[in-house]
Amino acid sequence: MTSDRIDIPRRSFLAGSLATVAGACPVAAQEESALPDPMCPRCGGIGRVPIGDAKPLVWMKGSPQPKWEAAIVGEQFCPICQSGKKASELIAEAKGWMEAALEKNKQWEERTGWKLGCVVTRQAVVHTQLTTIQARAVGQAIETLTLHLKLFTDSLLLASTHPDTLELMMLWEKPAWDQFRKVMEKLYTREQLGPSWASAQLYNAYDHINTPHTYETPKSINIRPPSCGAVFIVGRRQINLAANWHAPFWLVEGFSAYCDNVVHKINRWYTVYDVAIVPVGDWLVDAKKLSSEAKLRPWKEMMTRELRDWEALDHVQTMAMAAFLLESEPARFLKLLKRLRSGEEPVGALEETYKATTEELEQRCAKWLLARR
Ligand SMILES: [Zn+2]
Repeated sequence: MTSDRIDIPRRSFLAGSLATVAGACPVAAQEESALPDPMCPRCGGIGRVPIGDAKPLVWMKGSPQPKWEAAIVGEQFCPICQSGKKASELIAEAKGWMEAALEKNKQWEERTGWKLGCVVTRQAVVHTQLTTIQARAVGQAIETLTLHLKLFTDSLLLASTHPDTLELMMLWEKPAWDQFRKVMEKLYTREQLGPSWASAQLYNAYDHINTPHTYETPKSINIRPPSCGAVFIVGRRQINLAANWHAPFWLVEGFSAYCDNVVHKINRWYTVYDVAIVPVGDWLVDAKKLSSEAKLRPWKEMMTRELRDWEALDHVQTMAMAAFLLESEPARFLKLLKRLRSGEEPVGALEETYKATTEELEQRCAKWLLARR
């Protein structure tokens, strides 16, 4: 399992690029009164809330346009701070992100000279060389994840992207990966590609700020479906955006692995610094066992470990920590992300939000794990 590697650009680059995206946001041009209330108890300042009974939206290029209605958009304006707004605005916006996604797909076909499939979900677009069946499964997995995050938290904080703001490129076999990297090198400077760009050559996924990309092989899809990488990357993006790139590393990794677990009920994707053997399995079950045998690290220690020092156990533990923090108290988890977003120091923010010391949370997590079936 040494092939499941993902490399990540450092935060400084990510934050810089994100600032550009935020600067281009058209919100500033709107009326002051139309802006979401940052203190709104219902939407938490997003201005929108999920529609509970939304069905998955997985649209493939070449198929008829979806029948546009509120249930397809899957979100609605916040009934408290955005009550004056009409649903038709959201439908027009959704048509817009669909068009933008297709335009991006066309652009990538021109840049690469390839014929690319295109799968659009509510939160992301995937440009791909995978087969239609594989690509549809990727789209379904992304929707399963984002619907879970939306329903579990009753919020869009962890599903804040749309296909015009989050795209993935999923390639087939290494030569395509190498060629795609050349295209990226023409588009971006070394700095924009990120400090780990060079070493990413050896990996099979790279979480670039604008276009995260992966490749699969006949061998890799025997081990796991391509959707593992897709949900890991989409989950990672959601938590990074929710915390405005201030979430600590252990939480980002743990949450991304949790996303893989939510969709596939088994963990097969992880970030590695060096070649490492990480167990494939349901890490929540593994964590329960490790916890009962008192083999997990003290949280304080885990929170400060550098990725280069991570062992298999650390992947399992951070995933369990993130799962516990989200599933035991989803509302507090969102509050934690908002605190991190405003730049609070992570350990203090965690303790303040959950009204407990790190040691107490560690004990609660152990109990939570033991109580799981
Ligand atoms: Zn609101």
